[in-house]
Amino acid sequence: MASENHGPTDLYNLSRAQLRERLTAWGYSDYYAGLVWSALYRDLSLEPWAADGLRPELRERLAAGTVAGALPARGHVDSADGHTRKFLLGLTDGQAIETVLMYFRGRATACVSTQVGCAMGCVFCATGQMGFRRHLTAGEIVAQVVHVARLLRARGEALRNIVLMGMGEPLHNYDATMAALDTVMDHRGLAVAPRFITLSTVGVVPGIRRLTEERRPVRLAVSLHGATDEERARLVPPARRWPLAELIGACRAYSETLGRRVFFEWALIEGQNDGAAQAHALGRLLGGLEAHVNLIPLNPTLGYDGRPTAGPAVRAFQSVLAEYGLPSTVRQRRGIDVAAGCGQLATERGGAGEQGGGGERTPSV
Ligand code: SAH
Ligand code: SF4
Repeated sequence: MASENHGPTDLYNLSRAQLRERLTAWGYSDYYAGLVWSALYRDLSLEPWAADGLRPELRERLAAGTVAGALPARGHVDSADGHTRKFLLGLTDGQAIETVLMYFRGRATACVSTQVGCAMGCVFCATGQMGFRRHLTAGEIVAQVVHVARLLRARGEALRNIVLMGMGEPLHNYDATMAALDTVMDHRGLAVAPRFITLSTVGVVPGIRRLTEERRPVRLAVSLHGATDEERARLVPPARRWPLAELIGACRAYSETLGRRVFFEWALIEGQNDGAAQAHALGRLLGGLEAHVNLIPLNPTLGYDGRPTAGPAVRAFQSVLAEYGLPSTVRQRRGIDVAAGCGQLATERGGAGEQGGGGERTPSV
């Protein structure tokens, strides 16, 4: 993901070790790399060369050859109750991505994108409807977290949670995503705790296996939406490539190896996947697995005419799951539900800097 043009290096793209190497090559000890790292991720400075204690030549060299690749906000939408703000952030190649800040008292959450568009083509998803444009660099993923953390800092709050539920499929951009997570988890910087980081995947089985082998300490959420291969494939095309038997097998291995519960997401679409038969199939599918189901009534998008399941049917679905001892949470009209609509700002609003809308997706935190 190194830049092919010879422009300035995006410091957000460098791990702490890489920053150290860079400064060592310039003749500066680890101490100076520590100062720059701390300026970037403790002070959240966009001009880390201005940090106290740096030598003038180092300042000059950093200022001339590097940037802290902050992504300018081209616009934002607030939920009516002010609990959620969705940003459209501009990339240097002119494209834009969405990042969401959810204010839950004491557990502020950043919902972050990993790609521009997505190759997976889930029919109900605004990002899927865009198609795949490109992977984000690690630096562009880190920059989203810093963007949110800076806003929170200005309000005297700290970022606690990160959810990789913005645009794109994180396990399709594995290396950049993991590099970004390593940076934001670094204890000398943002120090976001791994248990507060949720990686949501459509079910890229090789990626889940790799997470397991590498013992990545993040929370795993798998977007299911169907409990048989046939039904799932109608909504989630990658179901054809990675059948449920393999997917759930990979989830079991992850859960057993890491001693972790796995979260499953299910967008409830009226008349599509919200009946008792599907709930029973889901209960059977997840039998014996330490699992939790997040039910998200569909967020309507322009490119798909499905409708969200209404309250009573949602509760009926939940009570079937309960018969299988399967815990579930309904995420209706909450912050996460705005995040689940990621891609909508980028596609529907064409990048215009609108403000104040979003009432129809009002979270009630
Ligand atoms: N690509 C990853 C992460 C981004 S999508 C994944 O698919 O898991 C984050 C979550 O939002 C997924 O569970 C996805 O299925 C869900 N989602 C996408 N569009 C939605 C919509 N219109 N309504 C409800 N949930 C949606
Ligand atoms: Fe991609 Fe996730 Fe949207 Fe599917 S739901 S198209 S995997 S972003």
